[in-house]
Amino acid sequence: MLDRNQSFLESFSFGILGFSKFLQTELSNSPKLINLEVTKLCNARCDFCDYWQTKHEERLDDYTNVIDKIGPLVVMITGGEPMLRKDIVDIVRQVKSASFFTYTGIITKGDLLDLNKAKQLYNVGLDQISISLDFLGDRHSVNRGVDAVFKEDGNTIEDTEISNGQSKPLALFITIGSQASYNADGDSFEVLAAKIGDDTINARQPITVFLKLTDGFDLSSVKYKENLEPGESFTFQLNLENNANGDDEFTLSALSVPSGWRVVFPEGPTYSIDAGGVEVIPIQVTVSDDARNGDEESITISISSKLSNIEKQQSFVVEVEQGFTDRLASAFSDLWYVFVFLLWRYFY
Ligand code: SF4
Repeated sequence: MLDRNQSFLESFSFGILGFSKFLQTELSNSPKLINLEVTKLCNARCDFCDYWQTKHEERLDDYTNVIDKIGPLVVMITGGEPMLRKDIVDIVRQVKSASFFTYTGIITKGDLLDLNKAKQLYNVGLDQISISLDFLGDRHSVNRGVDAVFKEDGNTIEDTEISNGQSKPLALFITIGSQASYNADGDSFEVLAAKIGDDTINARQPITVFLKLTDGFDLSSVKYKENLEPGESFTFQLNLENNANGDDEFTLSALSVPSGWRVVFPEGPTYSIDAGGVEVIPIQVTVSDDARNGDEESITISISSKLSNIEKQQSFVVEVEQGFTDRLASAFSDLWYVFVFLLWRYFY
């Protein structure tokens, strides 16, 4: 809790207001605590959460009416990463001003919080800042997939003494976040060495790190089999999950299409899927007009990955099912052919 109540009187009136709000929530049956999720975006890449994959979202610009209507005792502002909202100070101001006492906190992983921002939040009435810290030191950064979120003692730079004319090998540790993406061109870093107390004397060394490619993708579908009538169409939905640590491009093709049948990819045969992403791909199968009741065909789709050059196949089965009238018409048409054949044999 931020200690804004310095004197006994301030602490006392804070307590009285808080207790009054508590009674009000009791009497009006309002929630005591609400978590206000102000964004689903996040700049971390925690492997236990998928908020960081959010690309688009809808946002409220003003929370005053919501808080006023609910009237909670405590509001915890969360995300995603709430500090990604450029209007976060305004949001705190809205929450605080919506009701006569709303104990307000923010839950952040802390990397986007600096003293200036913390002061702005404090000045509009924020009561509590909660910082999620999984581990001490670099292990926290690795877990969250963000570099340099926290360094032990804030120390990411080491001093070393080199006397004139001497050279010294230095060890450089680079930790790749568990959710880092593969990049065929490698990731570039620049190592800077500067003379202590005189940063005009410095040297730069660019280095490139190539992340090992972990490839692979999975296929699944809710439905693998369908019964259809001749001429009828059905759209199967194929879930394609890119398990690689890099963005990938997938190409689909139909390997075995029976004569007279049609297989179409309504949204095209090529899909770009981000690392760890999933795409639902529609595959439309149309049965031949000449298909007969009881026919069963297997449609095999080939899916190949550009990144890893792996190819996989997925089959869908369609069983032809004619209605009674159609079956009768087919039987008569068969009889007609037999009749014509017998006539032909009789006369020739
Ligand atoms: S920091 Fe929080 S919101 Fe962001 S990815 Fe990690 S758990 Fe999810």
